[in-house]
Amino acid sequence: MPELPEVETVRRGLAPSMEGHVITRADVNRPDLRWPFPDSMAARLSGAKVTGLRRRSKYILADLDTGETLIIHLGMSGRMTVSGDPLGQFHHDHPAPEKHDHVVFHMANGARVTFNDARRFGAMDLAETAQLEEHWLIKPIGPEPLGNDFNESYLIAALSTRNTPIKTALLDQHVVAGLGNIYVCEVLFRAGINPKRKARDLSDKRVASLVPIIRDVLAEAINAGGSSLKDYRQADGELGYFQHGFQAYDREGHPCQTYGCTGKISRITQSGRSTFYCPKCQR
Ligand SMILES: [Zn+2]
Repeated sequence: MPELPEVETVRRGLAPSMEGHVITRADVNRPDLRWPFPDSMAARLSGAKVTGLRRRSKYILADLDTGETLIIHLGMSGRMTVSGDPLGQFHHDHPAPEKHDHVVFHMANGARVTFNDARRFGAMDLAETAQLEEHWLIKPIGPEPLGNDFNESYLIAALSTRNTPIKTALLDQHVVAGLGNIYVCEVLFRAGINPKRKARDLSDKRVASLVPIIRDVLAEAINAGGSSLKDYRQADGELGYFQHGFQAYDREGHPCQTYGCTGKISRITQSGRSTFYCPKCQR
């Protein structure tokens, strides 16, 4: 599933073709993805100008000059790719339509933005921009890890009541937005924290140390274009390459890369998800 760095990479790839440009026509090829599309979605998008393309957690938010915002979630396998960009950044012509091209945006600048989602766990909805923070998908989300509201004192307070393993607590979108299995494994590895430790039992100092590490891991992953494991692609169809920089995730049995550590990466299951960590140096 795309996590924050992958969604941010897609947003950055789409922005030159969408931000400030009019959607001449939107093709909506089915009634739903994970949930039904909003009423008259094609009509409400067609002719609208995209005034801004933002991200909140794993949602891409396209603000429209109609006063509405299109909320987009890539789900498990969703891709948004651009073809025919008049700016010349994308060299391929419009590809032939594919089976799972569920929504297609024909931009006035000649670009075509295609939302393809084979497994259909993705989602789109329209909400009034002024009421966006109250939308049921957006409202429960915790602070952005790269924003100012996410800081040492916030995280210490947020974790002080959590009786769950730290791994599980960091996956909780109420605690911090956009972190998923891959990046939580990498963060805890760098922090030297055992993923099984109860969140509330960690010292304030150790919790505080997580804040810059979370920011660093996410920033590095965004710079690498995200991590491509299964379906994820950047907006130009390219793979991300942060997966080559994994130190813990998906490295079961490999030697630990911490200097001086002779341990090997182990895999355990927590809350139904695989956790990768070094039992020797993550304490
Ligand atoms: Zn180790």
